[in-house]
Amino acid sequence: MKKFLTLLLAAAVALPLNAQRIKTGSIEGVQPQGSYMPTYKSDGAKKKPLNIILMIGDGTGLAQIASGYFANNEELTYANLKYIGLVTTKSASNFTTDSAASGTAFASGQKTYNYAVGVDLDHNPIPNIPEIIAPHGIISGVVTTDDLDGATPASFFAHQNDRGMTNEIWAEVPGCPLSLFAAGSKEVFEARPDSTRKAIEEQFTIVNSLDDPRCAEASRLGVLPTAVETGFKLDGRGDFLPENTAYAARFLKKHSKKGKGFFLMVEGARIDKACHLNKFDSNVLEVLDFDKAIAEAIRFADEDGRTLVIISADHETGGLDIWDGDPSKGKVEGVYIRSGHTAIPVPLFAYGPHAQDFIGVQGNEEVARKILKLLGCK
Ligand SMILES: [Zn+2]
Repeated sequence: MKKFLTLLLAAAVALPLNAQRIKTGSIEGVQPQGSYMPTYKSDGAKKKPLNIILMIGDGTGLAQIASGYFANNEELTYANLKYIGLVTTKSASNFTTDSAASGTAFASGQKTYNYAVGVDLDHNPIPNIPEIIAPHGIISGVVTTDDLDGATPASFFAHQNDRGMTNEIWAEVPGCPLSLFAAGSKEVFEARPDSTRKAIEEQFTIVNSLDDPRCAEASRLGVLPTAVETGFKLDGRGDFLPENTAYAARFLKKHSKKGKGFFLMVEGARIDKACHLNKFDSNVLEVLDFDKAIAEAIRFADEDGRTLVIISADHETGGLDIWDGDPSKGKVEGVYIRSGHTAIPVPLFAYGPHAQDFIGVQGNEEVARKILKLLGCK
């Protein structure tokens, strides 16, 4: 009887709290953007890839992808890919990860604690993919709609005990092995200490747009557009992500040593941010934009023939579910159960040589280990 009463009391307390958290949203009249249909010529090939593009949709679970799929009249480049797996995302400290711990796992092959950027549980630096492959002559790049110091991009070049150490993360840019970064923002860069800016400008050609003629001559390039140009789609961001994904792949191919290849990380950062806000329309527009970037990566992989593209997520955000819609009208409705991350495994899609290595269920750190093995840098 006592147990029954406790349960009843728990339910009475829990229900209103949970009810407050449930937030619905909808979008209608989305203009279909189509999708890129791959040639599949290199898909699943047994010869090892020369180049690897890892695409992280921050906060992008199956429901986020599905929201874009239904809004886009049941079509996405994602949905044209055949090699599909799942990724578990638990961190070394928490059942539910944050972007820093998951970013570090994807970047290094090692689990760490939430908030850690490129350091282990004892705060020792963990080498990331760009650092591990650089001595093998393989170059790297990072493209993101987040600020460059965001937890996910930072995991691919920095080592700090806490993701909030903005100045310290930027101060690591000059010494990192990246050949290219494209990220937010001009304003954030200008707010850094003079010494950091000077050191970065000594190592990288810094531009605010790909239209800058200096891009063509740069051997190491930093693209830092305005905050609006890397902000939410709803607030006026253009095609920054697809354009810079296409540009970065070509830039890195042009600058890579013969037979050595490159590694590129592309992040769709604002899917997570839209889901934290439980803004469903923004969530859908960010997924559609990320899918355009995926199309550019797959198109490059088809042209190149030796590029593997891996698309996954660091975690799901918002506990999103999809519950109604009308794809022919670009309409879909969703519901979030929370404003934070969830621990549900996230989908992974792979395309190109050795895409088959990524099917099944794997930890986020295993994805990095497979990448390093394929690049011959285990
Ligand atoms: Zn988040």
